[in-house]
Amino acid sequence: MNNTQTKRHGLSKSRLLQHRQCPKRLWLKVHHPELEEVDDGNQARFATGTYVGEVVQQLYPDGVLIDGDDLGQAMIDTTAILAGEKRPIFEATFQADGVLIRADLLLPNPLPQAGEGAYRMVEVKSSTSVKDYHLTDAAIQSWVAQQARLPLTSVEIAHLDNSFVYPGGGDYHGLFKYVNISAQIVDMRAEVPDWINAARKTLSGQEPCIAPGSQCNTPFACPFSGYCSPTVETKDTYPPEILPYGRALAATLRDEGYTDLRDVPEERLDNPRHQRVWRVSKNGQAELNSEAGKIIAALPYPRYYIDFETINPAVPVWAGTRPYMQVPFQWSCHSETAKGVMTHRAFLADGQSDPRRSFTESLIDAAGTDGPIFVYCAPFERSRMQELADYYPDLAPALRAAVVRIVDLYPIARDYYCHPEMRGSWSLKAVLPTIAPDLAYDNLEVANGGMAQEAFAEIMQPETSLERRQQLHDALLLYCERDTVAMVRIAHYFESNCA
Ligand code: SF4
Repeated sequence: MNNTQTKRHGLSKSRLLQHRQCPKRLWLKVHHPELEEVDDGNQARFATGTYVGEVVQQLYPDGVLIDGDDLGQAMIDTTAILAGEKRPIFEATFQADGVLIRADLLLPNPLPQAGEGAYRMVEVKSSTSVKDYHLTDAAIQSWVAQQARLPLTSVEIAHLDNSFVYPGGGDYHGLFKYVNISAQIVDMRAEVPDWINAARKTLSGQEPCIAPGSQCNTPFACPFSGYCSPTVETKDTYPPEILPYGRALAATLRDEGYTDLRDVPEERLDNPRHQRVWRVSKNGQAELNSEAGKIIAALPYPRYYIDFETINPAVPVWAGTRPYMQVPFQWSCHSETAKGVMTHRAFLADGQSDPRRSFTESLIDAAGTDGPIFVYCAPFERSRMQELADYYPDLAPALRAAVVRIVDLYPIARDYYCHPEMRGSWSLKAVLPTIAPDLAYDNLEVANGGMAQEAFAEIMQPETSLERRQQLHDALLLYCERDTVAMVRIAHYFESNCA
């Protein structure tokens, strides 16, 4: 077959969506799947979507699931179930023009006048609002269903309602918000046959010649970017993108041919923070303003250095929590009663029950009643403490008294310290290696907040063995302690340079 002929490739909704994002993505997926690099973020998103789908199924106990990976059998089962008594159907499977889809949820329409045998088609999403790409998704789903002669009275997106407060006891009624998007997708649905033809044409041709661009991250990061953009930034390069909050400027500079910030003329940078990043990058010299040390030296003892870890399940686990709510499960606290006289305390929930009450009581005890409480990026810790104060009125006075003692190290670092190796970032993990290189995170089993969430989620699973729980427990304690040690070292470094 020559390249201009159009082979009839089997398609699915996912493949059409990949083609909509970038024709080359679909071509690579089909012809060179070995080049795909699936990262942890993609896997986590997939796992969340699967779990949300399972929860919606629990809400319709009279529903029937078209199970199994044999799609031919799934289509036969779908036809049989549609011919029987009307009931909710999960994963109903249809095919039209060689495009195969599985519908998350079909609900029999309760209104007889809407049409005998008609269904509401509901696509279930783990987001908290309707996104543009959901419309494309639903247009394809409903086009195939309609071609397969399934009467639809509406096409809807069921997304998580972030105002839903879980009452506990496995009651998830109200977790989903149903949005009727039927009218919004009418025009899009008419284009689906063209999308199918275009995808087949792409698949039958040679690799499309498409340069990386904004499509590589919209709506999701493309797993072929390692193939299309093999250039990896190295530690000693300074691309324009390191300019903090300077995306638009970096894009302009790139268009002008600048690939290294150090080559950009100083007069192109108006923002003082950009100028500072440019200067330290060009000179290879860190800058520390003594003002940072003066601010810290003026603070009394005892001093506390505190860090929280949280988990934010899409589907609330504990009564009184909402979808994606940040639930704190761990803290670390170094207290310093005099210069360099330190003690350390920590709390880590067992993962078997709501962690918030014991987290809060132990935190209040550890944080004392006076003296500054250092955190790094205060809005996060402050918000969690305020939420806990709202939830536990009896603990609110102590929590609110602690909130007013918070001192944020982040803006002090951002305003008065800059090192070329930070490459435009003032995150704790960017600053620390420039001040205390002995405190690396890369030798830790849990080395960042995302890994901490995953570790705690694993502890929460009933099937996790006691031995594995202990291993994760130890790794979490080490990680959170590293964060507060890091704050101590940064504060001491600034203070020792305040002359
Ligand atoms: S990395 Fe970008 S250009 Fe390459 S296939 Fe993916 S979306 Fe297309």
